[in-house]
Amino acid sequence: MTQHSTFEDALFRLKSLAELANLNHEVIEALLHPKQMMEVSLPLRMDDGSKKYYSAYRCRYNNYLGPTKGGVRFHPNVNEDEVKALALWMTIKCAVVGLPFGGAKGGITVNPKELSPMELERLSRAYMRGFADFIGPHLDIPAPDVYTNSRIMGWMMAEYESIHRTHAPDVITGKPIELGGSLGRDDATGRGAYLCTLELIKKMGWTLTDIKVAVQGFGNGGYHVARLLQQAGCKIVAVSDSQGAVYSESGFDIESLWQEKQQSKQIKGVYCDDSVCGIIEHSTITNEQLLALDVDILIPAALEGVITKHNAKDIKAKAIVEIANGPILFEADDIINTKGIKVIPDVLANAGGVTVSYFEWIQNRSGQSWSLEKVQSQLKEKMTSAFDTVWTLAENDALTLREAAYVNALKKISRVIEAQGTRQYFVSR
Ligand code: NAD
Repeated sequence: MTQHSTFEDALFRLKSLAELANLNHEVIEALLHPKQMMEVSLPLRMDDGSKKYYSAYRCRYNNYLGPTKGGVRFHPNVNEDEVKALALWMTIKCAVVGLPFGGAKGGITVNPKELSPMELERLSRAYMRGFADFIGPHLDIPAPDVYTNSRIMGWMMAEYESIHRTHAPDVITGKPIELGGSLGRDDATGRGAYLCTLELIKKMGWTLTDIKVAVQGFGNGGYHVARLLQQAGCKIVAVSDSQGAVYSESGFDIESLWQEKQQSKQIKGVYCDDSVCGIIEHSTITNEQLLALDVDILIPAALEGVITKHNAKDIKAKAIVEIANGPILFEADDIINTKGIKVIPDVLANAGGVTVSYFEWIQNRSGQSWSLEKVQSQLKEKMTSAFDTVWTLAENDALTLREAAYVNALKKISRVIEAQGTRQYFVSR
């Protein structure tokens, strides 16, 4: 049996949900083809004087709703196929939350943990030089993703400004505050997912203090959603990173776990060396075991494709909140739906990041600096309203939340494509 690539899987889902949305055939065709897929080779002078070459990608999936927007990932598994899938999901996501952006994504095939800080700066600037003609405040606006951060965004912005001899804070989002970043961007993805989770808990009539949560991937998104859910009264019983997972029946103190990870760079093992270990009984489990835990809410917040048709049957959670992009493969959708598991899909659950990126772009373009209160209240408004629209559509039309999110987004994009005229318009003249 052939294994489908991530992009093929994303297209199967898109086609199936586009049919559900009853889209015009021409519109479906338009959405199946990325507008621009670019690859460059980046030479990097290493600290020891040698030279290495890294493959770098940028996909601008489409710009029907506005300039394209999407993160840059630094990871050894980055490839053209993955970048196209991530760019497609960005396109849907921006439409779900009603942002004036199309979708994009980019990345470099590299393990950034093996680079020195100076090599990392040179490589980040080289990425911007590689694509500078196709990036711009009205064209394509990058942001952070896995293993990239605000400092890297700052270097990329500086490189763009030096190439174009201009001041352009609106060319990239997720920058350091001092360089024009927005307050509230650091926890925006986790906060957006948290806001959606609260809405789901309300709709389901669950009690916050009864809820047990497992989080796969304790990075930017995973840490903040775990922190906020714990503050709200939920018990975070399992957390993992690329090295492994820890489990505690009584729940973790997320802040101490995070401090521990910052110092030791991993959760597993070292957690036990600190005083926190004495306070909380815990065991070490695998990432695969974490996914199958008997919890109320499972939050995959690492990479795509972790729930497949092979392990979907083992999931015991009542709900899944997709902070990662594409953690559940299309092939597993039916199994998950048949089990009655509520899924808040990635295109809604992790849209908090791009939403505050949008706020950052507005601030940069208008020379304003919003207060943290303003950012957080506008984020809450956007996320809860998007959740409500998706929930109501799902209830009214007997759809899953993913189906409703896609139907809603595809119809918005479709209206823009149809406004340019489709076959029906031209043959009837
Ligand atoms: P991050 O680099 O801050 O964290 C990723 C975490 O996942 C790290 O703790 C890493 O150790 C862990 N991890 C990596 N491989 C793993 C594995 N095989 N099993 C378990 N854990 C593993 O990245 P992030 O920004 O939090 O992004 C995580 C996911 O959320 C990605 O899919 C990303 O595309 C998505 N996302 C992020 C944002 C954002 O604003 N940061 C926005 C939308 C979506």
